Amino acid sequence: MKYEPVIGLEVHVQLATRTKIFCGCGVSFGDEANSRACPVCLGLPGALPVLNREAVEHAVRIALAAGCTVQRRSRFLRKNYFYPDLPKGYQISQFQSNEEMPLATGGGIDIPSPNGTKTVRLIRIHMEEDAGKSIHDEAFVAAGESLVDVNRCGVPLIELVTEPDLASPDEAYHFMSRLRQILTYTGVSEGDMEKGHIRIDANVSIRPSGTSGLGTKVEIKNMNSIRNCRRALELEILRQIDTTVAGGEITQQTLLFDPDRGRLRAMRGKESSDDYRYFPEPDLVPVVVDPEWVDRVRATVPELPQARRARFASAYGLRTEQIDTLVADRKVADYFEAAVSAGAEPAAAANWVQGDVLRTLNERKIDIAELKATPESLAALLKLIGAGTISANIARDVFAKMAESGASPDSVVEQQGLAQISDSSEIEGLIGRVISEHPDEVVRYGRGDKKLLGFFMGQIMKATRGQANPKVANQLLRRKLEDGTDRP
Ligand code: ADP
Ligand code: ZN
Ligand code: MG
Repeated sequence: MKYEPVIGLEVHVQLATRTKIFCGCGVSFGDEANSRACPVCLGLPGALPVLNREAVEHAVRIALAAGCTVQRRSRFLRKNYFYPDLPKGYQISQFQSNEEMPLATGGGIDIPSPNGTKTVRLIRIHMEEDAGKSIHDEAFVAAGESLVDVNRCGVPLIELVTEPDLASPDEAYHFMSRLRQILTYTGVSEGDMEKGHIRIDANVSIRPSGTSGLGTKVEIKNMNSIRNCRRALELEILRQIDTTVAGGEITQQTLLFDPDRGRLRAMRGKESSDDYRYFPEPDLVPVVVDPEWVDRVRATVPELPQARRARFASAYGLRTEQIDTLVADRKVADYFEAAVSAGAEPAAAANWVQGDVLRTLNERKIDIAELKATPESLAALLKLIGAGTISANIARDVFAKMAESGASPDSVVEQQGLAQISDSSEIEGLIGRVISEHPDEVVRYGRGDKKLLGFFMGQIMKATRGQANPKVANQLLRRKLEDGTDRP
C-alpha cells in the first residue's frame, strides 16, 4: 500500500512592536538577561496588563493580508501551566471553541504545488504573549542548575494555525517561505528566523494514498528554520510509514528535532488542551475591533508578494525564477523597481540586481538599505553600458566602487579613466603593436588557425585593461590579420 503525508502547521510569529504586549517594557534582542522586565510581564500580584494597540494592529494587518475574517470581539484567556521560564504560572492567550472566537479566523495562503497554485486554509490567527527563555548552560547543567532569562516574557506573538492541507514537506517549506514573505512585506514581523521571530510546530500523520480520513498525528515542536522543518518532516514521515508497514501503531506524541544530529527525539506523550484549564483573563477587557479602524489598517496593507510576482511577469516579462529571487525580499523588489523608474531597462536591471547587487549584499553581510550604490546610480551605470562608454565587464568593477563609496558611475569612470576605447585609430595602433610582437601567431593564423583570434583579442584587452570596445577591436583585428596574411 502507498501512503501519503498530511501536514498542518502552527506558527508563532513575533510581532514587530516597540514594546511588549501588556506593558511598556521594550522588545529587544541580546540585552543583558533579565534587564527588561516589570511587575506586569512577571505577573506580580496587583500588576495590571494593558493591551498594546500596535500589537493588535499588526495582528489585524496579517489577518487581512491572509484573507481572514477579523472578529469584532474576542477575549484573552489564561492558559495555565507551570514552567520555570513562565514566572506568572500562566500565559495570556486566546482560544477557539464553539463559544470562543480568537482575533481572526479563516483565510488562506497560496503556495506553488505539483498541480499548480494551491490555497492552504488557515483555521485562525490568535494573539498571545511569549514566555521567557531557559538557558541550559553547560557549566550550570553540570551543577544541576539552569538559568532563566525573562526578557522575552510578554513579547507579542501571533499564533497562526493551518488546516491539515499540506501534502508534503516541500509544501510545508513553500508555505513557510510565502508566509514569511507576507509577514515581512506587511511589516508585521521582522521575520528573522535566527532571532526566533518565527517558530514552527509541525503536525504530521500519514494515510493510505487517495483516502481522505486523518491518521494519528505527531507534533514536531519549536523549529526555527524553514529548512529544518522540511528535514524533520521528511524523517518523521519515513518513520511513520516504516512503523505502519511493519504492522506497528503510530502513537500521538510530541517530538523535538535536533538539526545537528538530524534526529527526532520524544518530548512528551499524549496530552489534551484541557490540561491548561483556560479561563478568561479577569484583568483585561475584551478586544473590540472597530470596523472603521480595520479599514484603516487594510489601507496599510501593501502590494503583497503574490500580486507583485504577477505584475513583474506581465509588466517586465521576467522569468519566474528571477521574479522569485527579486520578490522574496520587499526591499530588493523595491530597489529593482526604483532602478527601472530611473530609466533602467527591466531585463538588465533584473540581471544586475540578481547578480552583482545581491552578491555584494551577501559578501558584505549588509541589508540592501545599507548599500551605497543607489538604484538611480545603477540605472546610470546601465546607461553607460548601453551607450558603449564602458563594457559590461568594466561596469562590474565600477559597480564595486559605487557600492564601496557611493560615488556616481560617471565619476568612477572618469576618475579611474575607465571609459571604453572606441576610437578606431587608437585601437588600430594597439593592434599594430600586438601583431608585431607576435609574428609566429600571425603566421599560424594565416595558415588557418583561426582560433588565435581569441589570443589576439586577449592581448588587446590586456593592453587596455579591458577597456577596448570589443566590437570595434574585433572588427579591426580581423581586418588587419586578413590584410596581413594576404600580403605577398
Ligand atoms: P490539537 O487539539 O492537538 O491542538 P488541532 O485539531 O487543534 O489539534 O490541530 C492542530 C494542528 O494540527 C492544526 O494545524 C491541524 O491542521 C493539524 N492537524 C490536526 N489533525 C491532524 C492530522 N491528523 N494530521 C496532520 N495534522 C493534523
Ligand atoms: Zn514589562
Ligand atoms: Mg488545538
